[in-house]
Order: sequence, then structure tokens, then C-alpha cells
Amino acid sequence: MANILIVEDEKAISDLIAFNLELVGHACTQVFDGKAGLEKALEHKHDLLILDVMLPVFSGFEIMEYIHGTPVIFVTAKSCPADRIKGLRLGADDYIVKPFDILELVERVKAVLRRTKADANEFAFDSIVIKFDTRQVFRGGAEVTLKPKEFDLLEALVINRNLALSRERLLSLVWTYDYEGDTRTVDVHIRRLRQKLGLEHRIKTVFKLGYRFEI
Ligand code: CA
Repeated sequence: MANILIVEDEKAISDLIAFNLELVGHACTQVFDGKAGLEKALEHKHDLLILDVMLPVFSGFEIMEYIHGTPVIFVTAKSCPADRIKGLRLGADDYIVKPFDILELVERVKAVLRRTKADANEFAFDSIVIKFDTRQVFRGGAEVTLKPKEFDLLEALVINRNLALSRERLLSLVWTYDYEGDTRTVDVHIRRLRQKLGLEHRIKTVFKLGYRFEI
């Protein structure tokens, strides 16, 4: 689970990347030109940038010069070895040439995140610590037992923190994307999470829509 910024001007490719990364639990932000990409990258700390090289306004290489400390994977149609060298020399963590196999991209993302996100297996706030690798939650140092779907829901809320998520979106994130369940399932699990972890002030109800984890 990571926050990933995708800067790619070909919408179909951007959507394909976002769709597949979201399926494996990441939260993706998509922008479609170099200017928006640079602004987003600077205003918000992401766990990973996926940067196309040939972009309107600023190129991926130009964006890269302003980015420090955020892992980058270049995705580009250019197969020229000089570009690959330039990208890696600028500090990119990996470089993928279009057309690429989407599952390979997902694997490369996983590998880069594994290398760069040493501390990202944990999320702490208030008196709560969530350990994603062992799927444990602690409140005030004491472990709180969550059911699998309660943990998945908490994870989805934390990954998408500060965003309003519809009940349908949460259903698709937690109960797989084609689940035809009742959205009341979400309400029941939210109620339990609030009770077990004292998250009444963190998990806000968004009127007529769903929920938002505020932090
Ligand atoms: Ca392009």
C-alpha cells in the first residue's frame, strides 16, 4: 500500500496503470501533463512517482530534477539507451519501456517500494499503531483484535486518508471490486472500527456518500 503519483499524458495508459495498482491496494493520483505533475509532486509527498518522459509542458526528466527523496520509475515509449542512462543517472529507481506488460510494471513497483519504503509497514496516530505486514493493530500499546475485513477496511481508509470515499468505493476496495454486497455491510464494519479503536473523531461520515478518515 503506497501513495503513487502517475504523470502520463496518454489517458488510456494512465488508467491502466492506476487500475492495476489500485487492485493491489495502492492509492493513485493521476495527472496528465508535466506542469500538473511537478505541482502535485512538490505539494504532496508520495511514496512513488511513475513518470512518462515525453509530456506536455515539462518532460519527465525536467520534473525529476526538482524531485528529491521520492522514488521514481520512468515509463516511456523511448527505447533509446541514452534516455535510459539519462533517467537512471538523474536518480530514477527503474525505467520501463512502452509497450510494457502491466503485470511487470506492478512487480517493478513492488520491488522499488520494497527497497525504498523500509518504514512504511507501520502507520501510527493518536495512541494507535497499525502494522500492515503482520496485520496487527495496537491501541495504547495493547493489541486490538480486528476481523479480516475490519482490518482491510481500516487499511483502505488509512491509504486514502483525508479523501471522501463512497460506500461503493469502499465495498470495491475491501470486498473485491465486483462484490455485489449491500453497502450497509460497510456501515456495520465502520461502526465496529469506531468502537474498537475509538475512532469516532477520525472516521467521519460524509453525508449521503460514505466516509472519510481524517488525519
Ligand atoms: Ca507521453
